[in-house]
Parts: sequence; structure tokens; C-alpha cells
Amino acid sequence: MSHTPARPARPTLLASAAATGTAHAAATGTAHAASARPAARIPKALLIGLDGCMLDRVDEADAPHLHRLIAGGLRAPGTIPYAFTFSGPGWSTLATGVWLTKHGVRDNTFRGQRFATYPDVLTRVEQARPALRTYAVSSWPQLPSATGGALFSPAVDVRVAPPGSAYDAGTTEDAVARLSAADAPDASFVQLDNIDHAGHASGGASRAHLEAIAGADAQVGQILRAVTNRPTHAAEDWLIMVTADDGHTDAGGHGGTSAREKQTFVIAHGTGFTPGSTGTSRMVDVAPTLLTHLGVAIDPRWHLDGEPLRLPGGERRGGGRHSGRSREGQGHL
Ligand SMILES: [Zn+2]
Repeated sequence: MSHTPARPARPTLLASAAATGTAHAAATGTAHAASARPAARIPKALLIGLDGCMLDRVDEADAPHLHRLIAGGLRAPGTIPYAFTFSGPGWSTLATGVWLTKHGVRDNTFRGQRFATYPDVLTRVEQARPALRTYAVSSWPQLPSATGGALFSPAVDVRVAPPGSAYDAGTTEDAVARLSAADAPDASFVQLDNIDHAGHASGGASRAHLEAIAGADAQVGQILRAVTNRPTHAAEDWLIMVTADDGHTDAGGHGGTSAREKQTFVIAHGTGFTPGSTGTSRMVDVAPTLLTHLGVAIDPRWHLDGEPLRLPGGERRGGGRHSGRSREGQGHL
């Protein structure tokens, strides 16, 4: 969104809520929003994975869409608490909600995976609510279609690995088409890879890495526009999360234990996340946050290691029933 919203009161309230962080300011903003919108909206969740992306580099980059998501929601850096800073274990942790001691993935071969016991979050959605539509698309084909055990299981309705020649442009195009459709998925995972590629080729401190973040941001912008342009958008309750599997050394590469390689983050935008809020996140919190948003109750027998991300002030997010507060982030993508 590049222009000023039509209603001048709303940005003022948003700025007030973000600046003070007070419940009063948030409640004031909600009162206006609540009167203008229907009470019950259909929950939808979109998880965007930016391979090899780093949050402080996002801050530096020409990345207006990611900056807007951060300003309109939660900015939560995290740290990978183990030495296996590879994409296989990283995405496995993010998608399953358990650490590698449970999911068993230690490298990019996915050997030793225990996804039958600890399935990906989209498979959890299918098992709990089979009528919901689920979708995973990834420029790294190991995620939707690995030989020897794809992270996203065949239970997921739609799994796409665009041809390598299409790469992130193909992933973006596929995501835009599916998220624009009337029967758009209820839960989506979209992985873009080129930031990681630039990190390996030129280094995590390079200009090329920043430019790759800017390029991915433009693709994120296309994907977010597909969401906000949906004719039914006002009747939908979108949770947007952005995360990364690992970081990069300044010289490029990961797999070691340096702080730069172990960095990760979650940006969360939508109901329950106050604009301008900050906190910390754990990779295992991503899956339960998505499940909770869709109204899927977390079964203790799943032995998830994560919990739904908390509201500022320590309040836990509700079990799928949202009060509608903090709704002011809606639409400000
Ligand atoms: Zn990498």
C-alpha cells in the first residue's frame, strides 16, 4: 500500500498505539474498527520463509513491504539453540514446532527424519480439520518434494516445487495465483530462496545480500497484494508470519555456531499482534501460532516444544477464538 488510507483517523490511532503501547490506545483503535467490520471472519494463515535472511539486514535493506509488516505487527528476533544451522533442520523445526532432538533432521539430506511422529504444521491442520485447504510452495524442492521424506507430507492439499529455472519468480507467481483464487488455501507456506543464494555467493555482510532482500521484498509485496486484493478480504482474518531458517556469516555460509549463523526471527502481523510490538521468538513457536490462529487446539500428546506467540504483556493468545482486539493491523500490509 503506497498511499495514505482514506480514513485519516486510523493512522493517528495506530501511531498512538504503537508509540505508547498502552491498552487504552489499542482499545480506542479497535472500537472504530469493530464498528465497521463484521464480527466473525474466516481465519487464514500465510507463513513466508525467507531462506538465509537476517532481521538486522532487513532493517538496512530497501524492503518497504517487510518494514510495513514489522511496523504493523510483532518484530521478534530469535536464536537457533543448536549447532546444526542448516536449512534442513531449520525448516523442519519451523514447520513441526519441535526441536531437532524430536524431528531428527540434522542436515539437508533429511536422513533420520521423524515426520511420521512430528509432522509439518500443514499436515497437522489436515489431520485436525480436513476440510481446510493447505498449500506449500518452495524454491528449495527438498521441502515440498524431497526424495527420502518431504518435510511437507502428501496430506498437504497442494505441494509445489517450481522448476529451478523459474526459482523465486516461479514460487511467487504460483503463490500469487493460488492466494488470489476464490478457493485460496486456508494455510499456506511460501519459501523464497534467493537471499540465501546471495549470502552464499557474496557473504552475509555484502551489498548483494541486501539487494537480494530488496528483491525478495518486492516478491513478498506481490504476495501480500494478492491477499489484500481478495474480494473477500474484509471477511477474512489473515495471520501473516515471516521467518528464516538460519543466518549467514559475514563472509557467507552457515552450518556453524556463530551468532550470525544462528540468528532467526519471526515477524507476525494480524489479529492478536499489536502494531509496533517487539519481543523474542523461538522457531518452535511458529507452528503452534499458526495452528492456534486457525482454531486447531494444541494436543499435549503431540509434544510440541513451542507455544503460540504471546501478546505483549504476557497474555497468551486465545485458543482459536479471537476477541477481535488488536485488529487495527489488518490491511496495513
Ligand atoms: Zn544456505
